[in-house]
Amino acid sequence: MNEKQRLEAQQVESTNSSDKKSAKDYSQYFETVLQAPSLKDAKKRGKEEVKYHSDFQISEQFRNMGDGRKFYIRTYGCQMNEHDTEVMAGIFMALGYEITSTVEDANVILLNTCAIRENAENKVFGELGHLKTLKKERPDLLIGVCGCMSQEESVVNKILKTYQQVDMVFGTHNIHRLPNILHEAYMSKETVIEVWSKEGDVIENLPKVRRGNIKGWVNIMYGCDKFCTYCIVPYTRGKERSRRPEDVIQEVRQLAAQGYQEITLLGQNVNAYGKDFEDIQYGLGELMQEIRKIDIPRVRFMTSHPRDFDDRLIEVLASGGNLMNHIHLPVQSGSTEVLKIMARKYTREQYLELVAKIKAAIPDVSFTTDIIVGYPNETEEQFEETMSLYREVGFETAYTFIYSPREGTPAAKMEDNVPMEVKKERLQRLNSLVNEMSAAAMKKYEGQIVEVLVEGESKYNPEVLAGYTSKSKLVNFKAPKTAIGKIVKVRITETKTWSLNGEMVEELVEVN
Ligand code: SF4
Repeated sequence: MNEKQRLEAQQVESTNSSDKKSAKDYSQYFETVLQAPSLKDAKKRGKEEVKYHSDFQISEQFRNMGDGRKFYIRTYGCQMNEHDTEVMAGIFMALGYEITSTVEDANVILLNTCAIRENAENKVFGELGHLKTLKKERPDLLIGVCGCMSQEESVVNKILKTYQQVDMVFGTHNIHRLPNILHEAYMSKETVIEVWSKEGDVIENLPKVRRGNIKGWVNIMYGCDKFCTYCIVPYTRGKERSRRPEDVIQEVRQLAAQGYQEITLLGQNVNAYGKDFEDIQYGLGELMQEIRKIDIPRVRFMTSHPRDFDDRLIEVLASGGNLMNHIHLPVQSGSTEVLKIMARKYTREQYLELVAKIKAAIPDVSFTTDIIVGYPNETEEQFEETMSLYREVGFETAYTFIYSPREGTPAAKMEDNVPMEVKKERLQRLNSLVNEMSAAAMKKYEGQIVEVLVEGESKYNPEVLAGYTSKSKLVNFKAPKTAIGKIVKVRITETKTWSLNGEMVEELVEVN
């Protein structure tokens, strides 16, 4: 926008100051200024074809936008968000910005948010409150909110009403538009909002700045079509759409060539990979079959949905090699009745059948899971079914949560009728079982030699190194720093509930 347009825009604002709607309508001057999310639109799942864009590039006019400026991104939530942050950092760097680790030093601050729990949202609003002082001291500072929270209408409305220090809000489908959004935020006095509620496309070739050079994340698909009744993700991340196998394979090959030791294939529901392809029959099993041929020592995937976990995938996982023998398989409840209310689309029996099938094919497999306690209508007997299923599967650990309603989800309309003290008591009982079974799983490692991918110094003691086994068990041990980034053999000398202690036996030169 040139100066003339800017002055005209200001004039429009002042002449229409009594007319709030037109005062904010800058759309004739900007490419996009106010495009707010709509939950109603996000619920729609049309037959519209997924579009693949591989022509991302930084427009000439934005190339030096970041010269002399620094950016800071705070990330909340899951690995998908962590990986989105890597992409946004890549875009910032391509624009000429420098990275900084403190908000005080930053010219642009982004909060990459998570909407999964109300608690996570409150943290973000708290952080925005703190940033208000900084914005007052430095009005030229840009503050942005992105990620899943920004896909929610209520959040955007709250920001517009209460958090005027926010300069831009953009959604999970708009990350590739960051250069344009920044440009408009610099030019506009209004909060720039760009949140597409459309089902989503696949954008390739986005720059990335990966955190670390040992483990890497690779998105294989986006979105979710499952609509579990407690979950906001299908509304915030759009419909299920898979990246083309050749693009995924090429990215994994590049990471292997750069010396990465482990990759995790990411998606909200990775087992649905390929279901949206119309021209080829290709699922996660086929993709893993290709990836297992690539020279990268460890390959993982998350998150799995039991319903889409098919026989082909089990067959490929059973062939081992670089495919890890640890499966995170969220069950959420052990009661068929509760699973039905959750709309998980499987029964207790079907889940157990799947576990039995996987165990038969991969005898050495370990399972971990996610569980919600105190779902609407959950009875004591139904909760006990979760406890018995936990024992029956022999989970090695779990992420456990008390149910709390998320605005915009179907469950939020159900009566939250399990009293909080009952929920807490159930969670405590479940957690005791989780601890007991985790400690028992760890005990089996006493005296064993395990392979550990060494990630760095222990958080609590720089003299000690820390890393993970193939089954994702944390191991602390003394070894020279040269072991960092390698897979080494460690003899376990002590087992705890959540970690193992040991001593290095030898450095592995090569891992098959
Ligand atoms: S599978 Fe269910 S819980 Fe997982 S992201 Fe989709 S809707 Fe949410």
